[in-house]
Amino acid sequence: MGQKSAIVLGGGGFIGSHLVKRLKREGFWVRAVDLKYPEFSDSEADDMVIGDLRDAEFCSSIIDRKFDEVYQLAADMGGAGYIFTGEHDADIMHNSATINLNIADKAHKRNIKKVFYSSSACMYPAYNQEDPDNPNCAESSAYPAAPDSEYGWEKLFSERLFLAYNRNHGMSNRVARYHNIFGPEGTWRGGKEKAPAAVCRKVAMAANNGEIEIWGDGNQTRSFLYIDECLEGTLRLTRSEFEGPVNVGSDEMVTINQLVDYVADIAGKTLHKNHIAGPTGVRGRNSDNRLIQERLGWQPSQSLRDGLERTYEWIEQQVRRNTA
Ligand code: NAD
Repeated sequence: MGQKSAIVLGGGGFIGSHLVKRLKREGFWVRAVDLKYPEFSDSEADDMVIGDLRDAEFCSSIIDRKFDEVYQLAADMGGAGYIFTGEHDADIMHNSATINLNIADKAHKRNIKKVFYSSSACMYPAYNQEDPDNPNCAESSAYPAAPDSEYGWEKLFSERLFLAYNRNHGMSNRVARYHNIFGPEGTWRGGKEKAPAAVCRKVAMAANNGEIEIWGDGNQTRSFLYIDECLEGTLRLTRSEFEGPVNVGSDEMVTINQLVDYVADIAGKTLHKNHIAGPTGVRGRNSDNRLIQERLGWQPSQSLRDGLERTYEWIEQQVRRNTA
């Protein structure tokens, strides 16, 4: 049997660049496509193509053969500071929807049967996430739809798009709903970083017995999934018979205050939390892992603490380099 091939759209991004590494370790020939090269290490892709997936012609040129595996991770996205302020709504919706429309269409025209699509927990209705202790993110709770951001609405549209191609065009696309993925080589500053990276940076920069700023009261709850487990879930879903949509997330729910305490403890620092106004998103969110367990016989199981230790070590190194 010849070498298997894969294409990773968004392969210059956080999850995409890790996915490229994983596929290379498995022996795939990999093409990665993105607007940019990975920020923190060289791409391991055999063919790293720089270009704009909003451009339909460009999409045809890179989907030029039948890849064994196609991963669609490209999106205009960021952390709470990017998604929830409202200032980027039009760009987020237009850019990401255009990319997804192009990819579904070009894959279908190339007779590719399966595209993995990364949706997000942000598509779940805000009304099920008001109680920080009991958020409901079961896959079946998606409707009536009421995401709290345009980013979430676009994800919902695009998951429906890929599933519509399954129904009407005989495709067998896969949809995962990622919940807060984190790890080394993720954005850690500049406004697009997520809570774990932002907290690691703030803790790394704070003096012992100093103060760190937290958006909101810190009682909002979340769960965070370490990158390696996200990749494992992604590959297992892609290679299974199950289309999804299915949550790929951790069900170890913590408050943001607890997250800060974990990181401070890893860093060996005592810190005072200064709660300030800022975009915080829904009050509670946790991955419901019953369906993935039932359908794939697997769910993420690493502790948050383990992933935070590896992530803190990497961010602390970045902070030291940048302040040296
Ligand atoms: P990321 O921003 O690091 O990666 C997305 C990549 O898409 C970026 O490298 C970006 O340059 C690229 N991109 C954007 N517009 C493009 C365009 N027009 N043409 C080509 N490339 C373009 O984000 P990530 O964390 O790696 O997320 C990957 C996917 O997973 C995204 O679809 C995201 O919405 C989804 N997701 C991520 C999380 C998370 O916690 N990281 C949670 C839920 C869903």
